[in-house]
Amino acid sequence: MRKCSLDALQALFAHVNASMALYLPVDGSDGKAVYQKWSEGARWSHALNTVRSPKDFFFPQTEDLMKFKTAGKSIEIVDVRNAAEDFVIFGVRACDVKSFEILDRVFLTDPVDSFYASRREHGTIVSVACTRPSETCFCGTFGIDAASPAGDVSCWKTETELFWQANTPKGEAFLQLIAPLTEECGNEAVQAQQEKTAAVMKKLPLAELKADAFGGGKTKEFFDRPEWSELSQACLGCGTCTFVCPTCQCYDIKDFNTGNGVIRFRCWDSCMYSEFTKMAHGNSRLSQKERFRQRFMHKLVYYPENNDGLFSCVGCGRCLSKCPISMNIVKVMKKLGGE
Ligand code: SF4
Ligand code: SF4
Repeated sequence: MRKCSLDALQALFAHVNASMALYLPVDGSDGKAVYQKWSEGARWSHALNTVRSPKDFFFPQTEDLMKFKTAGKSIEIVDVRNAAEDFVIFGVRACDVKSFEILDRVFLTDPVDSFYASRREHGTIVSVACTRPSETCFCGTFGIDAASPAGDVSCWKTETELFWQANTPKGEAFLQLIAPLTEECGNEAVQAQQEKTAAVMKKLPLAELKADAFGGGKTKEFFDRPEWSELSQACLGCGTCTFVCPTCQCYDIKDFNTGNGVIRFRCWDSCMYSEFTKMAHGNSRLSQKERFRQRFMHKLVYYPENNDGLFSCVGCGRCLSKCPISMNIVKVMKKLGGE
């Protein structure tokens, strides 16, 4: 384990950024935290969560997949990918780190998504343990420990210092890079910080929320439950919950004719949108109730069924604070799970 003073962080960020692009949460002009590329003077936001999750780094909201031009019967295809470069994401919370495992199972399972895979290969994740979890946090429901985040490197912050621990070969390389600006140390201060965080976690309003009622094999039990009508009644189908969610991964692929060829791109989509499941034969989910049910059944039943029991929610709480009608996965779990 290594450590540095918080006062030395700017110099450390500059040192890292000289080797590869460094992204970190900073406070935006509206006071909300957003990820931004580090530049001189950029200060690490200590806000708990960024508005948008760091999934953008591996699965951006829009990206070009290819370009093509046709002339008669011939077609010219242009690979639009830039050579991927190494980068570091600093300050990722334990819940968001876990979300990468959920996305990996989608994008890295055969057939592998080469766009996503390339970014994962080049990205180093530096997590930071939570010290002040929010009332909307419930990562513990899904077995995530906010005081012991995973990632290539895990960090712990005290009042004056930051502690660094490598977990993977990529993490070891990163610690080598910052070695001139850090020093070897023991883990006593980290353990004390972890105990403080654990004590706060126990007092959170959602500390007792359990996911035991859900999981694979529960489709019959939950699919036709009458509560879906009441739960979905006020849903606006705005898709906000899916866009802020670190584990939502629906996308659409579209062609755009520039007048000088066609760009094929993909962009995030949402299972909450009425056109999302529109296919040649029609739409398989016609009502908002069906779309609403799909979102939560996928997170709590279908995904775990196909992924060794792993839920597709990490309890980050973003949907709890962003839904305009205050509907969210916790309300669904409580209503259907009988709490
Ligand atoms: S469903 Fe809500 S709480 Fe769960 S990971 Fe998505 S945004 Fe976070
Ligand atoms: S649950 Fe809330 S955020 Fe999600 S689509 Fe419905 S109204 Fe929008």
